[in-house]
Amino acid sequence: MKILVSGGAGYIGSHTVVQLVAAGYDVVIVDNFSNAHPTVLARMESLTGTSIPLHSFDLTDHDKTEHLFATEDFDGVIHFAGHKAVGESVEKPLDYYENNLGSTFSIVRAMQRYDVDKLVFSSSATVYGEDQAAATEDRRTYATNPYGWTKVMQEQILRDVAVAAPHMRFALLRYFNPVGAHPSGTIGEDPSGIPNNLVPYIAQVAVGKREKLMIFGGDYDTVDGTGVRDYIHVEDLAAGHIAALKALEETDEAVHTWNLGSGKGTSVLEMLRAFEKAVGREIPYEIVARRPGDIATSYADPTKANAELGWSTKKTVEEMAADTWRWQSQNPEGFAG
Ligand code: UDP
Repeated sequence: MKILVSGGAGYIGSHTVVQLVAAGYDVVIVDNFSNAHPTVLARMESLTGTSIPLHSFDLTDHDKTEHLFATEDFDGVIHFAGHKAVGESVEKPLDYYENNLGSTFSIVRAMQRYDVDKLVFSSSATVYGEDQAAATEDRRTYATNPYGWTKVMQEQILRDVAVAAPHMRFALLRYFNPVGAHPSGTIGEDPSGIPNNLVPYIAQVAVGKREKLMIFGGDYDTVDGTGVRDYIHVEDLAAGHIAALKALEETDEAVHTWNLGSGKGTSVLEMLRAFEKAVGREIPYEIVARRPGDIATSYADPTKANAELGWSTKKTVEEMAADTWRWQSQNPEGFAG
């Protein structure tokens, strides 16, 4: 089985590539390095002991995408590539729509032209808008920012394609909050600039790159007033993609939607405490105003994925913190270090 992994040099993509190779798949990566570092390839190759073909181009380029499909005989695609920063999407909506929708158009057109029928798509809990507590897959989807709308729209596009091409198979994977790193500490999340997300921010405070964590809001209606999220270890998330790919090989249904989360909520302060335990010292923080657009609580109901994929999360919040810390402390400057 030969699988094209778009965005395979990125955070979730790279962890999934390593697991795909370990599971016996041939993997080909496409990545334009808009939010990834070339060093990751050598790290993936060292973890897998194989050479991994990588094509560096922009997937919105239809001709280059079709050329790749013409020269390789893919059995399926895992499509991670896309812009993902909520705040940036508000500033640059056209960039987000053009890039995220455009790359999906290229990939699906090339799949149709070259008879590739299985696609696993990176969606997000963001498609539940403000209704993310105990979210089940049948909940109505809508978004509160352009990034989120690109996910809602891409899901809709794939559903429409499935009606027109009923032999195709699509898995729409709605991720909750991916965190953690490979247990080796050699690959992990490497955000450019100031991290938007909680765990990379805590990691940079812990390693001394930032002064203190700003906790966005201490007065939510939650266990301790701070925001609650469903953190999922990137290794569990990667395993979810392989389970979804296998499920697509066996199913008669064209489109499947699966939440990938633990089903458990963790507050900002609880995550901070787990990190302090991993690091072995206190991490400075200050509670400041809420971040505009944030919701109090988000966690998956993962029952459907558990039952239909035979998959569930295995790793604890403590392991998420320990693995993130191993990655961050071994690579204080990320891949560029
Ligand atoms: N958060 C925070 N400080 C930060 C970044 C995030 O307090 O520097 C909080 C945020 O308000 C939310 C939680 O951490 O309650 C997770 O935020 P993140 O941006 O990682 O994920 P998302 O909001 O997209 O679920």
